[in-house]
Amino acid sequence: MKGNASTSRALNRRLILNLLRNRGPISRAELASVTGLSPAAVTFVVTELMDEALVVEREAVASSNGRRPIPVDINYEAHLALGFKLNRSSIDCVLTDLATSPLATLQATVTDITPEGMIEAIRVTIPRLLAQAAREEKDIMGIGVSIPGEVDPRNGVCLQSPRFGWRDLPFAEMLAERGHAPVWIDDDVNAFAIAQKLFGAGRNHRNFAALAIGAGIGCSLVLNGDIYHGSNSAAGKLGHITSVPGGALCECGRRGCLMAHAAEPYMIAEWGRRRGVEPTRADFAASAATGDEDALEILANAGSRIGRHLADLVNLFDPEVIVVGGEAVQFGNALLDPLKRSMEEFLFFSKPEIQTDWVPSSWARGAAALATQGIFDFERLPSG
Ligand SMILES: [Zn+2]
Repeated sequence: MKGNASTSRALNRRLILNLLRNRGPISRAELASVTGLSPAAVTFVVTELMDEALVVEREAVASSNGRRPIPVDINYEAHLALGFKLNRSSIDCVLTDLATSPLATLQATVTDITPEGMIEAIRVTIPRLLAQAAREEKDIMGIGVSIPGEVDPRNGVCLQSPRFGWRDLPFAEMLAERGHAPVWIDDDVNAFAIAQKLFGAGRNHRNFAALAIGAGIGCSLVLNGDIYHGSNSAAGKLGHITSVPGGALCECGRRGCLMAHAAEPYMIAEWGRRRGVEPTRADFAASAATGDEDALEILANAGSRIGRHLADLVNLFDPEVIVVGGEAVQFGNALLDPLKRSMEEFLFFSKPEIQTDWVPSSWARGAAALATQGIFDFERLPSG
């Protein structure tokens, strides 16, 4: 590969940072032998990263045959990222270290879903999160915001979000002016996939799909280590595949989309229709937990429907593994077993493993990962 000095410097930085991220603390000598870089090049890059407080030396572990070389590691604790996952009536907020481990979390209530209202709601949480973790603003390296909708992450523009009624909105720039830190934005399922890629179940896979089932259904594709955004930032919209032609009205304005027949709002409404009540999510979850037959049947139908379309996705993209997240993971095997069965029934050749990886802070951590990925830079390979 040809390239100038700054290109090779950037490549070496990424190589070393990502090796440390994947393997944990290792010595400079091991870094040289694994990467194939010269010891001098490794020392040069490590010194530079230590000057930036991105890398730190850890304790050398004593061994019987004398002192071992000093391992170096990513200085996860020294820098902070903020993550915000925007919802219709709330914002999930998190302050994390560079490993996207939460240091402080809170949920802000939102009454005004205009861009200005959202930005103000975000802004006021920042000092609260810092106070909760007893950390300082100067350590904040970046802000990540995940938005349900079509997002152009390169330009920081929300192309459209039907849930908020936004269109062509330069959200990253608007927030950066108020938040005093660089801002990255992406679709919320892509943000979840990036967190999976960096520190989750997707860590050791070059090709995987991250499926999220909650208020909507989305499926982010990681192909050869990169999120596949598509030509209009609209890839992975599994939830808007037509499942029932002429069926129920979807939030996108079309009829019969998969999410209109299988996402949580559908399940809750269907259960309410059978009972003649207007249930909350908690009502439905509680009845599913106690083995209510209607709730279980609704979950099974939704799982089967999702699994059938997931099979199409596998037949097209052949991922190594599918990581499932989103609030609906809470329903466990009542949803996931029918999903797997149905997927397998419609698979053509490969049969990827389905793994679940979900904790309540996953959405916001995904948003924070939008900021931390800048450090590891796994998406942007310079053309050389
Ligand atoms: Zn739709």
